[in-house]
Parts: sequence; C-alpha cells; structure tokens
Amino acid sequence: MAGFTTDRPSDKPCPCCGGPNVRVFFGEDSVPRNSCLLLDDPDTAAGFPRGRLDIGFCDDCGFITNTAFEPGSAEYSQRYEETQGFSGRFMEFAKELAQRWVEDYQLHDRTVLEIGCGKGEFLIEMAKAGAGHCIGIDPGVHPERIDDPEAADIEWIIDFYDERYSHLDADVVICRHTLEHIPNVAEFLTSIRKAIGDRPDTVILFELPDVYRVLTEIAFWDIYHEHCSYFSLGSLARVFRQTGFEVVELGREYDDQYLLIAAKPSTVPAAGEPLPEEDDLDDLRRGVEHFRTGYEALVEDWRKRLVELREHDGKAVIWGSGSKGVSFISNLDISDEVVAAVDINPHKWGKFMVGSNHEIISPESLTEIRPELVVAMNPIYLGEIGDDLRKLGVDTTLLAL
Ligand SMILES: [Zn+2]
Repeated sequence: MAGFTTDRPSDKPCPCCGGPNVRVFFGEDSVPRNSCLLLDDPDTAAGFPRGRLDIGFCDDCGFITNTAFEPGSAEYSQRYEETQGFSGRFMEFAKELAQRWVEDYQLHDRTVLEIGCGKGEFLIEMAKAGAGHCIGIDPGVHPERIDDPEAADIEWIIDFYDERYSHLDADVVICRHTLEHIPNVAEFLTSIRKAIGDRPDTVILFELPDVYRVLTEIAFWDIYHEHCSYFSLGSLARVFRQTGFEVVELGREYDDQYLLIAAKPSTVPAAGEPLPEEDDLDDLRRGVEHFRTGYEALVEDWRKRLVELREHDGKAVIWGSGSKGVSFISNLDISDEVVAAVDINPHKWGKFMVGSNHEIISPESLTEIRPELVVAMNPIYLGEIGDDLRKLGVDTTLLAL
C-alpha cells in the first residue's frame, strides 16, 4: 500500500482562513506530479517527477489541502490532456448546465470569461446557449483542435489567469474544475474580486469536486497531486464570503460529485447570512475520521481482488486513464495486475500512464485482450461503458470504484 493514514498537526496555517488548526490525516510519500500528461514511452512515464501528499483538514473552516504541495510543481501545458469531452454523459451535463446558467442568470449576449477553460467544450456550449462574447483562458487549450463553427468568435488565451488579465471586463466569470488545482485559494479569489472591481452585476459561477463525497465513500482515487485543494459546500462558501463574494446559490450536481456555487461581488467579508447547507463542520470532522479509519481495508479489498485474478491468469483493465486511474494504481501499488488502461479519448491511445506506465488503449482493443474484469474509474460512466462493451461483443465483469 502506497498511501498511509495519520493524525498529526501540520506546521503550516490554513491557506483559506489562515487558522493554525490544520491536522494531516492522509498521505503518500511518492505520487506522480501530473496524472493527465501524455507521455510517449514507458520509461518517461515510469520515471516521471514525483511529489508528496500530506492531506490536512482545517478544523476552523473545513478546508482540506495538500500541505506538502509545492506551487508550480504540476505541469499545465498543451501536453495536459484532462478533457472528459469525449464522454456523451459528461457533454450532456455540460450542455444542460450551460443552458441553465444562461437562462437563470440572464446571460444572453453578455461577455463571459472562463478561467481554466480546458479544451474549451463548455465555453462553446455557453456560446451555443446564447452567451455573448466568450473568452477562454487556459495553458492547455488547443485552438487548432476546435473546429466547431459556433466557436469561431470565441477568444482563446493560452495562459494561466492572473492579474495580467484583470483588464478583461467580463459580465460573467466562470471557473469549472480549476479551483481544486490552486494552492493559494484565498489569494486567487481575491485577485478575481479585485479584477471585478465596482461592477456589482457581475455573475460568478464555479464548479468543482465535492470532498464530502470523497470522505464518505473513502474515494482515495480522487485524491492526487494536481488537486491540492478540496472543498465542501461549507468550506467553499466560507472562502467566497471571506474574499468578498456573496453566495447566491450553492448545491451539488452530477450524482452529487460536483459542487456548484453562484456568487456576486460584495464587501470583504461579504454581506449576507450563511445558508443552512454551509453548516457542515461536524459532518466534515466525522467524514475525515471515517476516511482515516476505513482507507486501509478498502485498498486491501481492491488489491486482493486484482492480485487473485492475476494469480488465476485472469486479465483486468481499468477504464479511465486520467487522474483517478493513476491514483487508484498508485494507492494499490500494483503493476501487472492491470494489463492496460482503456480511454475513449483518441488523443491518448498509444501513450502511457504517468507513474505506472500502463499503456492507454482504445475500447476496440478489448476485443483482442478479452479481459475478465473491467474496473470503471467513475460509476457515473457505467451505463456508457456497458453499452460500449456490448457493442464490441466483449463479455466481461464490469465493476466501478
Ligand atoms: Zn481554514
């Protein structure tokens, strides 16, 4: 087992509230610094730079953070392949969310800035749903890969967002699946708040993973190096208020995997009373304890299953070669027990998974491998994966994390 549980104080203050009461409860000594980079050969994949996890919980504000994270240690570039845009299920959600945001917040013809737009799929959906001028900023965006006519007027900036871009006057600031990659969360939100200045009508819309689910499901595969910051409904709302945003709406989506927050600029700290669902500190304390005490048994359970299959000459593949897959294999500390990682993103085929160096293969390759077991890295895609396997005529056991 590569991970460990512990209970010791961190020597660093909380990067959200500044409080001194952060305790480390989980860690890994050596994890790949990136899990979504495309590597061309197994040696580079196996020898990829590694970092450390010391996951701490702030008893004051509920924020969870990798206290060992070194800013700048994860690479975000055009080699970074994080998109889930090849999944029908994911794109259906993105489309529905874009339409809902445009309707609910009256974003027709308004200027939208998406910070961390990834490969741009969501911003294109916003344009299709009726938003006005759209600007996407991300170090990993590939404008040459985007051929959707609806994207013709979108402005793409291949860079990180920081104060250099505070001149981009937007009516709407969107940030999806990005905040969890930022170590100094309060500082980042403060810079966005500053850039908005005195424009009270600006709408701020964020989406990111919910750590409460990670704790209650002991979803250790959802804890990895690029994610240095982990939020619950309460800890997210608290840091928004603290940095000058009034929380307008707060909730969970996507089978409760993601948090959604809508906010508007306010004073520092923000006006308005906390919403009832923000009162989650006791739940988080219990969740951390549940994770800490249940981790080892769950890892052993999966490990045993895969080792036994291998001993009986059975073959297992994982479905999903991204961060969850890298973290799953790293925690189980296995190698040949998984023969390959399937991915529906054709840009990844023939490449190798960071750290474990498993080859990334197409679903079609399973017709030759004929695995006895397919482990889906996210249960939300079970339907989609099951359909693909049936179409390919691959008869196998399909399980999900
Ligand atoms: Zn805190």
